[in-house]
Amino acid sequence: MSEREFDVIVLGAGPAGEVCAGRLGEQGLEVAVVESHLIGGECSFYACMPSKALLRPGELLAEVRRIPGVHEAVTGDLDAAAVFKRRDEIIHDLDDSGMVPWLEQRNVTVVRAPGRIDGERRVQAGDDTLVARKAVVVATGSSPLIPPIDGFQEAEPWTNREATTAKELPDRLAILGGGVVGVEMAQAFSSLGSQVTLLERGDRLIPREEPFASEHVEQSLRENGVDVRVTTSATAVRAEGGEVTIELDDGGPVRADELLVAIGRRLNTDEIGLDTVGLEPGKPVEVDDSMRANEWLYAIGDANGRALLTHMGKYQARIAADVILGQGAECHQSNADGSRSPRVIFTDPHVAAVGYTYEAAQADGLNVRAVDVPTQGNAGASFYGRDDTRGTARLVVDDDRGLVVGATFTGPEVAEWVQAATIAVVGEVPVERLFHAVPPFPTRSEVWLYLLEALGVAGPCGGPPRA
Ligand SMILES: Cc1cc2nc3c(=O)[nH]c(=O)nc-3n(C[C@H](O)[C@H](O)[C@H](O)COP(=O)(O)OP(=O)(O)OC[C@H]3O[C@@H](n4cnc5c(N)ncnc54)[C@H](O)[C@@H]3O)c2cc1C
Repeated sequence: MSEREFDVIVLGAGPAGEVCAGRLGEQGLEVAVVESHLIGGECSFYACMPSKALLRPGELLAEVRRIPGVHEAVTGDLDAAAVFKRRDEIIHDLDDSGMVPWLEQRNVTVVRAPGRIDGERRVQAGDDTLVARKAVVVATGSSPLIPPIDGFQEAEPWTNREATTAKELPDRLAILGGGVVGVEMAQAFSSLGSQVTLLERGDRLIPREEPFASEHVEQSLRENGVDVRVTTSATAVRAEGGEVTIELDDGGPVRADELLVAIGRRLNTDEIGLDTVGLEPGKPVEVDDSMRANEWLYAIGDANGRALLTHMGKYQARIAADVILGQGAECHQSNADGSRSPRVIFTDPHVAAVGYTYEAAQADGLNVRAVDVPTQGNAGASFYGRDDTRGTARLVVDDDRGLVVGATFTGPEVAEWVQAATIAVVGEVPVERLFHAVPPFPTRSEVWLYLLEALGVAGPCGGPPRA
């Protein structure tokens, strides 16, 4: 048992915790990061990285099959075993030793233990008591929500961890929840050869995105053989004889070899001693735009509930570090509340979005207009996704300020598009100026010209919208 002092103690070494600890260490602070499982967190081993490793081969094969000439060169289906092998390389066979040097090079002390706040500026980590001179940063992430359904726990459902690290392909996979994780896993496992049933309680998939995005993803999943059932709730689950039976509120049961639960996330704030400093366990740690809960306590990443996305957690980590370093005064106009987060759903078609949907902007009282054009309607698009004209590009424009406040793109391989829109949204670029951001020919970015035309924005010198 020992007591050790550091400038800053970071609880949790997922992407948010790692970035924060590294940035503080780089600047010469004495930093400890306390991690109970793997350095790199959920994202590196059980979420972002393995899920994309499972999705990309199917996406690529589908795209190749849409392009005459290459289509003929590719025969056969995906090799699931080879896909799993590549996934294992990407997650380093669940070995995090490759992540430690990055922290060590920045003089960060790694403490391998479950950590728990134990009063002001104190963290209990195994047998050690760590005391923070400046700050404690909570970066403990999130875990899957388990629904209170009869028989559910006993059926030992897969969570994202078992799904993303699966070694064998189930013949039949049932997925509960049609949010981002549910649709991505439905896409991945059906492309690999499982018969997938996707159950969603609400009336559409990915309900936080634009309705057309839900339609495009649902249509594509159905075309790929996924049995999509919306407005359907599971009422009871039974596991027997090596299979899982899911009783539904609207008809016959679904039988599967595995059941994946993907109904949402709960924040890992219930067992970290928040009660010892007057905060409520199990709730998001509420923070201001400096990521500060109080004078010495910060929370970043999923744990503060602002935007459950890796890139936003890492961004918050940089904000918190700068504030702790006393450099936070520059942090005006930040995107810290998460309202302008970019996000990508890696189904085929992709859904890539930033900022507001039309409905969310209206709900926030903005005077907005939405314009839609086909994603596939220009010269650059001729080389992508032939015979698949699905895809919509939408801008949501705040007419009072003449600014783009939201954008959504659906279509094959549009993930990279969202950064241009993010720059327009976060940079608050006046829509008239966007005509001077000339998209190269023949790239799909020319969609911006069509969007500006649809908005009725005057040409570069005030003439008609498009020549
Ligand atoms: C299937 C899936 C796919 C996803 N894909 C994407 C994607 O493509 N892009 C994207 O941006 N986001 C994606 N996400 C979300 C992303 O994974 C999270 O937003 C991100 O991991 C959050 O980072 P974090 O550092 O806050 O927490 P985590 O990554 O959850 O890390 C928290 C760390 O804290 C540790 N910890 C927890 N409690 C304690 C404790 N008491 N003591 C010590 N250590 C503790 C945990 O072991 C863990 O290592 C996905 C999520 C899922 C489930």
